[in-house]
Amino acid sequence: MTCSEYYSMEMESDLLIVNKRSKTLQHMQLEAVLNRLSSEKPIYNEVHEHLLKQSAGHFGETTLDFYLQYLPEHFHVAQDIRLFDGIHYFQIDALVICPDFILILEVKNFKGELTFDLEWNQLSRVYNGQKDIFPDPFLQVEHQTRQLTRWLERFSFPSVPIYSFIVISNPYTTIAVQGQDPANLKKRIVRPKNLLTKMESISQHFSECTWLPKEFQKLIHLIEKENLPYQAAIMDRYSLSINDLIIGVQCEQCQAFPMRRRHGRWFCPSCSYISKNSHIKTLRDYQLLVKNTISNREFREFAFIHSKKVARTLLLDVCHQYTGDTKDRKYVLDLV
Ligand SMILES: [Zn+2]
Repeated sequence: MTCSEYYSMEMESDLLIVNKRSKTLQHMQLEAVLNRLSSEKPIYNEVHEHLLKQSAGHFGETTLDFYLQYLPEHFHVAQDIRLFDGIHYFQIDALVICPDFILILEVKNFKGELTFDLEWNQLSRVYNGQKDIFPDPFLQVEHQTRQLTRWLERFSFPSVPIYSFIVISNPYTTIAVQGQDPANLKKRIVRPKNLLTKMESISQHFSECTWLPKEFQKLIHLIEKENLPYQAAIMDRYSLSINDLIIGVQCEQCQAFPMRRRHGRWFCPSCSYISKNSHIKTLRDYQLLVKNTISNREFREFAFIHSKKVARTLLLDVCHQYTGDTKDRKYVLDLV
């Protein structure tokens, strides 16, 4: 029996689903901040530009996702992983866990002409007549490999071969290499379309599985449990306070601010749209932009609600947990 047949028999079907990539936290934060920023604010253009860059990145990653869907069923993909190696946190764009090896994918979404200087460990990019230099992605994945090895040791997993590829997601980016390449690094620069073929050729080196199916499942569960996405303080990044934002509940129909509370519903004075749940997105924005908890007063101020009782009912409806006494109760937001 081959390794894959063995796995197909042993693995539970609920583990065989490839994760669907959703937008990164930073992407959602940028969308939320731009949506609540007047275009007359000086910072508006900068935030807008950052969001465009993020969207390009997201597109690149979703191209990779397209090909990852064709992986054999017993392969598991974990994306946007952030783990603690005992000293520092480390981030990995995508991790493919196979019965015989682990593959780290470092995704680069650059446009233009890329040159990997393998001798001097540099990556340069020429785009729109401008040349930029970036750190060597091979050094980056080597370090990630060391950190992942440490992480596996922390949880007493057996040692496993770890491979890594640099994925150039934009099909129109040209790729060149220069310098001596004794380690044949060139072969590890891949386009999403070639990824499956490259992985198959690694698989051929293994006749027996490295992991037992039980260990494999344990590893997947542990990665999900230990993954801690980084919630950067987006408001600090742009030196913004709540006072710089457009506050209130937004109308889903015409995007106007603010909707008014009327007879237990949200009413839009601009387009007369009526809704029951528009405050949920407002609370989600608060979580993305400010923090993971909100008090009754903070909610009333952010959503233009006059009544404490109404605010309380809405918060209890959306938030399933809170901390503190009635007076300084903080509702836990879990909407992202
Ligand atoms: Zn409206």
